[in-house]
Amino acid sequence: MAVIDFTKENMERCRCSQCPVQGTSKCVKEKLNNIKNLREDEMPTSEDFPGMYCANGYAYCEDLDPEKECQCATCGNWKMYNLGNADPSQKYCQNGEAEETEEYKETEGE
Ligand code: SF4
Ligand code: SF4
Repeated sequence: MAVIDFTKENMERCRCSQCPVQGTSKCVKEKLNNIKNLREDEMPTSEDFPGMYCANGYAYCEDLDPEKECQCATCGNWKMYNLGNADPSQKYCQNGEAEETEEYKETEGE
């Protein structure tokens, strides 16, 4: 089970849109432009939002550059949800959603 949910608050903290892994992606650019047209109370689907991969575990855009450096460790969600002790601990767009580990359970709420 993922340790973080796809919610508006978490989405707003996500740093994926500023990440160099996605920096040259036309697909990401298009999705980011499309979500600007949503109403304030509307949520994009996980397919339409190019981020929150720690919750969704899947990048729909195929033109990412995985060699570049992940920005998750600078994200408020990463600290708040203790994702450094989840598995995987970063680069969720490549490695899948953040799952509980024994270490995660032990350190949860610290
Ligand atoms: S930890 Fe990474 S994938 Fe998850 S919300 Fe933050 S920047 Fe996005
Ligand atoms: S999960 Fe990490 S590597 Fe992937 S887009 Fe988000 S910040 Fe960048």
